[in-house]
Amino acid sequence: MEKTIRAWDSGFVEYMEEMVGHPNYKGMPIRRNAEGELLWLTELDSESQERLDWAQEKADELEMIVQPREFAQLMREIHPTKIHVCKVCGSRMSIYHHYPTKHLLKTLNKEFKQEFSENDHIGDIWDKILANGEPKVWLRQFFQRTFGLSDIRGIGKNEIITMCEKICSEQSKRLLSPGATTNFPRVFDGYQPENRCCIAGDRAEHLSETLGYIAIDQKTYKFWNDGNLHGANAYSKSKHFEDKTVRHMGPVALGFVHDPRYLRTVEDEEQPAIRNRLLVEDIEAIIQVESSTGVPAMSWYSSEMWMHIKKNYMKNPQKVSTIYRNALLQNSANYFFIIKSIAEKSNGYGRDFLIDAFLDPKSEVFEFTYEFDAWGNITERITIPYTKNGEDPAERYVQEALEAIGDYSERALSHLLPDMTYDERFELSRICWKIGQQEPNGCQKALSDLVISIEKRLTQEMRTAKSPKV
Ligand SMILES: [Zn+2]
Repeated sequence: MEKTIRAWDSGFVEYMEEMVGHPNYKGMPIRRNAEGELLWLTELDSESQERLDWAQEKADELEMIVQPREFAQLMREIHPTKIHVCKVCGSRMSIYHHYPTKHLLKTLNKEFKQEFSENDHIGDIWDKILANGEPKVWLRQFFQRTFGLSDIRGIGKNEIITMCEKICSEQSKRLLSPGATTNFPRVFDGYQPENRCCIAGDRAEHLSETLGYIAIDQKTYKFWNDGNLHGANAYSKSKHFEDKTVRHMGPVALGFVHDPRYLRTVEDEEQPAIRNRLLVEDIEAIIQVESSTGVPAMSWYSSEMWMHIKKNYMKNPQKVSTIYRNALLQNSANYFFIIKSIAEKSNGYGRDFLIDAFLDPKSEVFEFTYEFDAWGNITERITIPYTKNGEDPAERYVQEALEAIGDYSERALSHLLPDMTYDERFELSRICWKIGQQEPNGCQKALSDLVISIEKRLTQEMRTAKSPKV
Protein backbone atom coordinates (compact mmCIF):
# COMPACT_ATOMS: atom_id res chain seq x y z
CA MET A 1 0.00 0.00 0.00
CA GLU A 2 1.25 3.41 -0.85
CA LYS A 3 1.17 5.95 1.92
CA THR A 4 -0.42 9.32 1.45
CA ILE A 5 1.80 12.32 1.95
CA ARG A 6 -0.81 14.56 3.62
CA ALA A 7 0.80 14.40 7.04
CA TRP A 8 4.13 15.52 5.67
CA ASP A 9 5.63 18.91 6.48
CA SER A 10 4.61 21.58 3.94
CA GLY A 11 8.27 22.55 3.47
CA PHE A 12 8.95 19.00 2.43
CA VAL A 13 6.10 18.99 -0.09
CA GLU A 14 7.56 22.14 -1.64
CA TYR A 15 10.97 20.52 -1.64
CA MET A 16 9.69 17.45 -3.53
CA GLU A 17 8.05 19.59 -6.21
CA GLU A 18 11.19 21.66 -6.57
CA MET A 19 13.33 18.55 -7.06
CA VAL A 20 10.95 16.87 -9.51
CA GLY A 21 10.90 20.06 -11.59
CA HIS A 22 14.67 20.46 -11.54
CA PRO A 23 16.53 19.74 -14.80
CA ASN A 24 19.12 17.62 -12.92
CA TYR A 25 16.46 14.92 -12.45
CA LYS A 26 14.93 15.18 -15.92
CA GLY A 27 13.66 11.74 -16.99
CA MET A 28 13.82 10.12 -13.55
CA PRO A 29 10.62 8.05 -13.16
CA ILE A 30 8.09 9.15 -10.54
CA ARG A 31 4.30 8.80 -10.32
CA ARG A 32 1.47 10.70 -8.64
CA ASN A 33 -1.58 9.28 -6.87
CA ALA A 34 -5.20 10.10 -7.74
CA GLU A 35 -4.99 13.32 -5.68
CA GLY A 36 -1.98 14.42 -7.68
CA GLU A 37 0.44 13.90 -4.81
CA LEU A 38 3.94 12.69 -5.60
CA LEU A 39 4.76 9.08 -4.74
CA TRP A 40 8.21 9.99 -3.48
CA LEU A 41 9.05 6.50 -2.24
CA THR A 42 8.58 3.64 -4.67
CA GLU A 43 7.63 0.11 -3.69
CA LEU A 44 7.72 -1.15 -7.26
CA ASP A 45 10.65 -3.28 -8.37
CA SER A 46 10.09 -2.16 -11.96
CA GLU A 47 10.22 1.52 -11.04
CA SER A 48 13.32 0.93 -8.89
CA GLN A 49 14.97 -0.74 -11.85
CA GLU A 50 14.05 2.20 -14.11
CA ARG A 51 15.57 4.57 -11.58
CA LEU A 52 18.75 2.46 -11.45
CA ASP A 53 18.98 2.50 -15.26
CA TRP A 54 18.43 6.25 -15.26
CA ALA A 55 21.20 6.72 -12.69
CA GLN A 56 23.61 4.55 -14.65
CA GLU A 57 22.99 6.65 -17.77
CA LYS A 58 23.45 9.84 -15.78
CA ALA A 59 26.73 8.54 -14.35
CA ASP A 60 27.96 7.67 -17.85
CA GLU A 61 26.96 11.11 -19.07
CA LEU A 62 28.96 12.74 -16.25
CA GLU A 63 31.81 10.25 -16.78
CA MET A 64 31.55 9.19 -13.16
CA ILE A 65 32.75 5.73 -12.22
CA VAL A 66 30.20 4.26 -9.86
CA GLN A 67 30.28 0.97 -8.03
CA PRO A 68 27.60 -1.37 -9.33
CA ARG A 69 24.17 -0.40 -7.98
CA GLU A 70 25.72 2.14 -5.64
CA PHE A 71 24.67 5.60 -6.67
CA ALA A 72 25.01 7.52 -3.40
CA GLN A 73 27.90 9.58 -4.74
CA LEU A 74 26.06 10.36 -7.97
CA MET A 75 22.91 11.48 -6.13
CA ARG A 76 25.03 13.72 -3.93
CA GLU A 77 26.79 15.15 -6.97
CA ILE A 78 23.61 16.04 -8.84
CA HIS A 79 21.64 17.32 -5.83
CA PRO A 80 20.99 20.94 -6.82
CA THR A 81 20.99 22.60 -3.38
CA LYS A 82 22.87 20.08 -1.18
CA ILE A 83 20.24 20.91 1.45
CA HIS A 84 17.62 18.31 2.33
CA VAL A 85 14.29 19.20 3.96
CA CYS A 86 13.00 16.88 6.71
CA LYS A 87 9.67 15.22 5.96
CA VAL A 88 8.61 15.27 9.61
CA CYS A 89 9.73 18.64 11.01
CA GLY A 90 10.75 20.60 7.93
CA SER A 91 14.34 21.16 9.13
CA ARG A 92 16.85 22.00 6.40
CA MET A 93 20.06 20.02 6.74
CA SER A 94 23.20 19.56 4.67
CA ILE A 95 23.56 16.30 2.76
CA TYR A 96 27.29 16.47 3.42
CA HIS A 97 29.05 15.07 6.49
CA HIS A 98 28.53 18.24 8.51
CA TYR A 99 27.09 17.01 11.83
CA PRO A 100 28.98 15.67 14.82
CA THR A 101 28.77 11.97 15.68
CA LYS A 102 28.21 10.96 19.30
CA HIS A 103 31.93 10.37 19.53
CA LEU A 104 32.91 13.87 18.34
CA LEU A 105 30.11 15.46 20.34
CA LYS A 106 31.47 14.04 23.57
CA THR A 107 34.94 15.39 22.81
CA LEU A 108 33.59 18.80 21.73
CA ASN A 109 31.36 19.31 24.76
CA LYS A 110 34.14 18.28 27.11
CA GLU A 111 36.77 20.45 25.47
CA PHE A 112 34.65 23.61 25.19
CA LYS A 113 32.24 23.01 28.08
CA GLN A 114 29.12 23.48 25.96
CA GLU A 115 26.00 21.49 25.15
CA PHE A 116 26.04 21.04 21.39
CA SER A 117 23.66 18.58 19.78
CA GLU A 118 24.05 16.03 16.99
CA ASN A 119 21.87 18.26 14.82
CA ASP A 120 24.12 21.32 15.03
CA HIS A 121 26.00 22.06 11.81
CA ILE A 122 29.74 21.93 12.39
CA GLY A 123 30.06 25.46 10.95
CA ASP A 124 27.58 26.80 13.51
CA ILE A 125 29.43 24.98 16.27
CA TRP A 126 32.63 26.68 15.14
CA ASP A 127 30.96 30.12 15.29
CA LYS A 128 29.38 29.48 18.68
CA ILE A 129 32.70 28.45 20.19
CA LEU A 130 34.30 31.69 19.03
CA ALA A 131 31.26 33.74 20.15
CA ASN A 132 31.73 32.20 23.56
CA GLY A 133 35.13 33.90 23.73
CA GLU A 134 37.41 30.89 23.19
CA PRO A 135 40.72 31.75 21.48
CA LYS A 136 40.71 31.02 17.74
CA VAL A 137 44.11 29.32 17.94
CA TRP A 138 42.77 26.79 20.41
CA LEU A 139 39.75 26.03 18.22
CA ARG A 140 41.91 25.58 15.11
CA GLN A 141 44.29 23.31 16.99
CA PHE A 142 41.38 21.26 18.19
CA PHE A 143 40.24 20.64 14.60
CA GLN A 144 43.75 19.94 13.40
CA ARG A 145 44.40 17.43 16.17
CA THR A 146 41.00 15.72 16.15
CA PHE A 147 40.78 15.24 12.39
CA GLY A 148 44.50 14.66 11.89
CA LEU A 149 44.91 17.57 9.44
CA SER A 150 48.49 18.08 8.33
CA ASP A 151 48.98 21.82 7.82
CA ILE A 152 46.26 24.44 8.23
CA ARG A 153 48.37 27.58 8.25
CA GLY A 154 46.67 30.30 6.22
CA ILE A 155 43.56 28.15 5.68
CA GLY A 156 40.17 29.55 6.70
CA LYS A 157 37.15 28.07 8.45
CA ASN A 158 35.25 26.90 5.37
CA GLU A 159 38.25 25.18 3.84
CA ILE A 160 39.05 23.44 7.12
CA ILE A 161 35.49 22.17 7.35
CA THR A 162 35.68 20.94 3.74
CA MET A 163 38.86 19.02 4.63
CA CYS A 164 37.20 17.47 7.69
CA GLU A 165 34.11 16.56 5.66
CA LYS A 166 36.21 14.80 3.04
CA ILE A 167 38.08 12.83 5.69
CA CYS A 168 34.80 11.58 7.12
CA SER A 169 32.93 10.90 3.88
CA GLU A 170 35.82 9.38 1.93
CA GLN A 171 38.01 7.78 4.55
CA SER A 172 35.18 6.84 6.87
CA LYS A 173 36.53 8.52 10.00
CA ARG A 174 33.68 8.42 12.48
CA LEU A 175 33.56 12.09 13.47
CA LEU A 176 31.01 13.74 11.19
CA SER A 177 27.79 12.35 9.70
CA PRO A 178 25.50 13.63 6.94
CA GLY A 179 22.20 15.39 7.69
CA ALA A 180 20.29 12.98 5.46
CA THR A 181 21.11 9.33 4.84
CA THR A 182 21.11 7.83 1.37
CA ASN A 183 18.39 5.50 0.14
CA PHE A 184 18.39 4.99 -3.61
CA PRO A 185 16.55 3.89 -5.77
CA ARG A 186 13.68 3.71 -3.28
CA VAL A 187 13.56 7.49 -2.82
CA PHE A 188 13.41 9.84 -5.80
CA ASP A 189 16.29 12.12 -4.81
CA GLY A 190 18.23 9.29 -3.16
CA TYR A 191 17.76 10.54 0.41
CA GLN A 192 15.77 9.13 3.27
CA PRO A 193 12.85 11.61 3.77
CA GLU A 194 13.58 12.10 7.48
CA ASN A 195 16.69 14.05 8.38
CA ARG A 196 18.89 12.94 11.26
CA CYS A 197 16.71 15.06 13.60
CA CYS A 198 13.73 12.76 13.10
CA ILE A 199 15.21 9.40 12.19
CA ALA A 200 13.48 6.62 14.06
CA GLY A 201 11.27 3.60 13.69
CA ASP A 202 11.05 2.44 10.12
CA ARG A 203 14.50 3.57 9.08
CA ALA A 204 16.09 1.74 11.98
CA GLU A 205 14.04 -1.30 11.04
CA HIS A 206 15.05 -1.16 7.41
CA LEU A 207 18.66 -0.84 8.48
CA SER A 208 18.51 -3.83 10.79
CA GLU A 209 16.87 -5.87 8.03
CA THR A 210 19.69 -5.03 5.64
CA LEU A 211 22.27 -5.72 8.34
CA GLY A 212 20.61 -9.07 8.90
CA TYR A 213 21.26 -10.02 5.28
CA ILE A 214 24.83 -8.78 5.52
CA ALA A 215 25.39 -10.91 8.61
CA ILE A 216 24.07 -14.01 6.83
CA ASP A 217 26.30 -13.37 3.82
CA GLN A 218 29.33 -12.80 6.05
CA LYS A 219 28.73 -16.18 7.63
CA THR A 220 28.59 -17.81 4.19
CA TYR A 221 31.87 -16.22 3.10
CA LYS A 222 33.61 -17.28 6.30
CA PHE A 223 32.47 -20.89 5.94
CA TRP A 224 33.30 -21.25 2.25
CA ASN A 225 36.32 -19.01 1.67
CA ASP A 226 39.82 -20.43 2.13
CA GLY A 227 41.77 -20.00 5.35
CA ASN A 228 41.93 -21.71 8.71
CA LEU A 229 38.35 -21.16 9.81
CA HIS A 230 38.70 -22.83 13.17
CA GLY A 231 41.87 -20.86 13.91
CA ALA A 232 40.23 -17.58 12.83
CA ASN A 233 37.23 -18.15 15.09
CA ALA A 234 39.40 -19.15 18.05
CA TYR A 235 41.77 -16.22 17.57
CA SER A 236 38.94 -13.67 17.32
CA LYS A 237 37.59 -14.91 20.65
CA SER A 238 41.03 -14.84 22.29
CA LYS A 239 42.41 -12.30 24.74
CA HIS A 240 44.00 -10.37 21.86
CA PHE A 241 40.58 -9.00 20.98
CA GLU A 242 39.14 -8.44 24.44
CA ASP A 243 36.51 -5.65 24.23
CA LYS A 244 37.54 -4.96 20.65
CA THR A 245 35.86 -5.51 17.32
CA VAL A 246 37.53 -7.81 14.82
CA ARG A 247 37.92 -6.98 11.15
CA HIS A 248 39.41 -8.77 8.16
CA MET A 249 42.36 -6.98 6.56
CA GLY A 250 40.80 -7.94 3.23
CA PRO A 251 36.99 -8.25 3.21
CA VAL A 252 35.73 -11.83 2.96
CA ALA A 253 33.03 -10.56 0.58
CA LEU A 254 35.85 -9.81 -1.89
CA GLY A 255 37.14 -13.38 -1.59
CA PHE A 256 39.87 -12.78 0.97
CA VAL A 257 40.53 -15.67 3.35
CA HIS A 258 39.04 -16.11 6.80
CA ASP A 259 42.25 -16.79 8.64
CA PRO A 260 43.78 -15.67 11.96
CA ARG A 261 46.78 -14.11 10.25
CA TYR A 262 44.54 -11.65 8.44
CA LEU A 263 42.47 -10.46 11.40
CA ARG A 264 42.99 -7.09 13.05
CA THR A 265 41.18 -4.93 15.58
CA VAL A 266 38.92 -2.10 14.48
CA GLU A 267 40.40 1.23 15.51
CA ASP A 268 38.20 3.46 17.60
CA GLU A 269 37.48 6.06 14.94
CA GLU A 270 36.99 3.67 12.06
CA GLN A 271 33.54 2.93 10.74
CA PRO A 272 32.64 -0.52 12.12
CA ALA A 273 31.22 -1.68 8.80
CA ILE A 274 33.55 -0.34 6.16
CA ARG A 275 31.56 -1.63 3.26
CA ASN A 276 33.85 -4.14 1.65
CA ARG A 277 36.36 -1.49 0.75
CA LEU A 278 39.70 -2.04 -0.93
CA LEU A 279 42.37 0.64 -0.69
CA VAL A 280 46.00 0.80 -1.79
CA GLU A 281 47.10 0.77 1.84
CA ASP A 282 45.01 -2.37 2.46
CA ILE A 283 46.73 -4.15 -0.42
CA GLU A 284 50.14 -3.16 0.88
CA ALA A 285 49.37 -4.41 4.40
CA ILE A 286 47.96 -7.68 3.06
CA ILE A 287 50.97 -8.31 0.81
CA GLN A 288 53.24 -7.83 3.80
CA VAL A 289 51.43 -10.51 5.80
CA GLU A 290 51.33 -12.78 2.78
CA SER A 291 55.07 -12.61 2.24
CA SER A 292 55.98 -12.96 5.92
CA THR A 293 53.64 -15.88 6.66
CA GLY A 294 53.41 -17.66 3.31
CA VAL A 295 49.65 -18.01 3.85
CA PRO A 296 47.73 -17.00 0.70
CA ALA A 297 45.52 -13.97 1.29
CA MET A 298 42.94 -14.80 -1.36
CA SER A 299 40.60 -17.77 -1.79
CA TRP A 300 41.28 -20.03 -4.74
CA TYR A 301 38.35 -18.76 -6.78
CA SER A 302 39.83 -15.24 -7.01
CA SER A 303 43.53 -16.01 -6.79
CA GLU A 304 44.32 -15.17 -10.43
CA MET A 305 42.61 -11.81 -10.06
CA TRP A 306 44.60 -11.22 -6.91
CA MET A 307 47.84 -11.97 -8.77
CA HIS A 308 46.86 -9.45 -11.42
CA ILE A 309 46.01 -6.82 -8.80
CA LYS A 310 49.30 -7.32 -6.96
CA LYS A 311 51.22 -6.89 -10.20
CA ASN A 312 49.33 -3.82 -11.34
CA TYR A 313 48.00 -1.83 -8.40
CA MET A 314 51.03 0.44 -8.17
CA LYS A 315 50.71 1.44 -11.81
CA ASN A 316 46.95 1.95 -11.48
CA PRO A 317 46.21 3.18 -7.95
CA GLN A 318 42.96 4.80 -9.13
CA LYS A 319 41.63 1.40 -10.15
CA VAL A 320 41.99 -0.15 -6.70
CA SER A 321 38.92 1.09 -4.83
CA THR A 322 36.72 1.00 -7.92
CA ILE A 323 37.55 -1.38 -10.77
CA TYR A 324 39.58 -3.97 -8.83
CA ARG A 325 37.26 -3.94 -5.85
CA ASN A 326 34.14 -4.25 -8.00
CA ALA A 327 35.61 -7.07 -10.08
CA LEU A 328 36.40 -9.07 -6.93
CA LEU A 329 32.93 -8.45 -5.57
CA GLN A 330 31.43 -9.59 -8.86
CA ASN A 331 33.57 -12.71 -8.96
CA SER A 332 32.46 -13.66 -5.42
CA ALA A 333 28.82 -13.12 -6.37
CA ASN A 334 29.28 -15.43 -9.37
CA TYR A 335 31.10 -18.04 -7.30
CA PHE A 336 28.48 -18.19 -4.56
CA PHE A 337 25.74 -18.34 -7.16
CA ILE A 338 27.52 -21.39 -8.63
CA ILE A 339 27.89 -23.09 -5.24
CA LYS A 340 24.27 -22.39 -4.32
CA SER A 341 23.09 -23.70 -7.70
CA ILE A 342 25.03 -26.93 -7.21
CA ALA A 343 23.60 -27.34 -3.71
CA GLU A 344 20.03 -26.83 -4.87
CA LYS A 345 19.80 -27.83 -8.51
CA SER A 346 21.54 -31.18 -8.67
CA ASN A 347 18.63 -33.47 -8.08
CA GLY A 348 19.42 -33.85 -4.37
CA TYR A 349 23.05 -34.94 -4.85
CA GLY A 350 24.62 -31.47 -4.80
CA ARG A 351 25.24 -31.25 -1.09
CA ASP A 352 27.16 -34.54 -0.96
CA PHE A 353 29.23 -33.38 -3.89
CA LEU A 354 30.07 -30.12 -2.12
CA ILE A 355 30.97 -31.93 1.09
CA ASP A 356 33.47 -34.16 -0.74
CA ALA A 357 34.87 -31.43 -2.94
CA PHE A 358 35.09 -28.49 -0.53
CA LEU A 359 33.94 -29.01 3.03
CA ASP A 360 35.68 -32.21 4.11
CA PRO A 361 39.13 -30.96 3.06
CA LYS A 362 38.51 -27.69 4.93
CA SER A 363 37.30 -29.38 8.10
CA GLU A 364 40.68 -30.92 9.01
CA VAL A 365 41.53 -27.79 10.98
CA PHE A 366 39.02 -28.84 13.63
CA GLU A 367 41.32 -31.61 14.83
CA PHE A 368 43.42 -29.10 16.74
CA THR A 369 43.33 -26.31 19.29
CA TYR A 370 45.66 -23.39 18.79
CA GLU A 371 47.72 -20.77 20.61
CA PHE A 372 48.47 -17.47 18.87
CA ASP A 373 50.91 -14.59 19.00
CA ALA A 374 49.77 -10.97 18.68
CA TRP A 375 49.64 -11.19 14.86
CA GLY A 376 47.49 -14.28 14.66
CA ASN A 377 50.38 -16.62 13.89
CA ILE A 378 49.81 -20.07 15.32
CA THR A 379 52.48 -20.68 17.96
CA GLU A 380 51.18 -23.99 19.23
CA ARG A 381 48.94 -26.68 17.83
CA ILE A 382 47.50 -29.39 20.04
CA THR A 383 45.54 -32.36 18.75
CA ILE A 384 42.11 -32.52 20.38
CA PRO A 385 41.67 -35.86 22.16
CA TYR A 386 38.72 -37.89 20.92
CA THR A 387 35.74 -37.42 23.22
CA LYS A 388 33.09 -40.09 23.40
CA ASN A 389 30.00 -37.99 23.95
CA GLY A 390 31.07 -34.62 22.63
CA GLU A 391 29.81 -33.63 19.19
CA ASP A 392 32.25 -33.60 16.35
CA PRO A 393 33.11 -29.95 15.54
CA ALA A 394 34.08 -30.89 11.97
CA GLU A 395 30.67 -32.47 11.43
CA ARG A 396 28.97 -29.40 12.88
CA TYR A 397 31.01 -27.18 10.55
CA VAL A 398 29.84 -29.12 7.50
CA GLN A 399 26.21 -28.78 8.57
CA GLU A 400 26.52 -25.07 9.30
CA ALA A 401 28.29 -24.41 6.01
CA LEU A 402 25.47 -26.12 4.10
CA GLU A 403 22.87 -24.13 6.02
CA ALA A 404 24.78 -20.94 5.28
CA ILE A 405 24.76 -21.54 1.54
CA GLY A 406 21.02 -22.19 1.79
CA ASP A 407 20.52 -18.89 3.61
CA TYR A 408 22.71 -16.93 1.21
CA SER A 409 20.19 -14.41 -0.02
CA GLU A 410 19.02 -14.55 -3.57
CA ARG A 411 17.54 -11.11 -3.28
CA ALA A 412 20.85 -9.37 -3.31
CA LEU A 413 20.43 -6.66 -0.73
CA SER A 414 23.99 -6.88 0.43
CA HIS A 415 25.87 -8.44 -2.47
CA LEU A 416 25.86 -8.20 -6.24
CA LEU A 417 23.71 -10.27 -8.54
CA PRO A 418 25.58 -12.91 -10.53
CA ASP A 419 26.74 -11.77 -13.95
CA MET A 420 27.61 -14.76 -16.12
CA THR A 421 27.64 -15.26 -19.87
CA TYR A 422 25.28 -17.62 -21.63
CA ASP A 423 28.07 -20.20 -22.09
CA GLU A 424 29.05 -20.03 -18.44
CA ARG A 425 25.47 -20.58 -17.30
CA PHE A 426 25.12 -23.44 -19.75
CA GLU A 427 28.25 -25.11 -18.39
CA LEU A 428 26.93 -24.69 -14.83
CA SER A 429 23.66 -26.40 -15.81
CA ARG A 430 25.62 -29.23 -17.41
CA ILE A 431 27.64 -29.75 -14.21
CA CYS A 432 24.51 -29.71 -12.03
CA TRP A 433 22.88 -32.21 -14.39
CA LYS A 434 25.87 -34.56 -14.25
CA ILE A 435 26.00 -34.44 -10.46
CA GLY A 436 22.26 -35.07 -10.42
CA GLN A 437 22.78 -38.16 -12.63
CA GLN A 438 25.25 -39.44 -10.00
CA GLU A 439 28.09 -39.11 -12.43
CA PRO A 440 30.31 -36.86 -10.33
CA ASN A 441 33.50 -38.03 -12.07
CA GLY A 442 35.23 -35.07 -13.62
CA CYS A 443 32.70 -32.64 -12.16
CA GLN A 444 35.13 -31.15 -9.69
CA LYS A 445 37.59 -30.47 -12.50
CA ALA A 446 34.82 -29.03 -14.69
CA LEU A 447 33.65 -26.80 -11.84
CA SER A 448 37.12 -25.52 -11.16
CA ASP A 449 37.65 -24.88 -14.90
CA LEU A 450 34.39 -22.93 -15.04
CA VAL A 451 35.28 -20.78 -12.02
CA ILE A 452 38.73 -20.07 -13.41
CA SER A 453 37.41 -19.18 -16.85
CA ILE A 454 35.03 -16.65 -15.29
CA GLU A 455 37.91 -15.29 -13.29
CA LYS A 456 40.01 -14.96 -16.45
CA ARG A 457 37.24 -13.03 -18.15
CA LEU A 458 36.97 -10.62 -15.21
CA THR A 459 40.76 -10.25 -15.08
CA GLN A 460 40.70 -9.27 -18.73
CA GLU A 461 37.99 -6.71 -17.93
CA MET A 462 40.08 -5.29 -15.08
CA ARG A 463 43.00 -4.98 -17.49
CA THR A 464 41.10 -3.16 -20.23
CA ALA A 465 38.88 -0.97 -18.02
CA LYS A 466 39.74 2.70 -18.30
CA SER A 467 41.19 4.20 -15.14
CA PRO A 468 38.62 6.39 -13.44
CA LYS A 469 39.34 10.11 -13.15
CA VAL A 470 40.26 11.21 -9.66
ZN1 LIG B 1 13.26 16.45 11.38
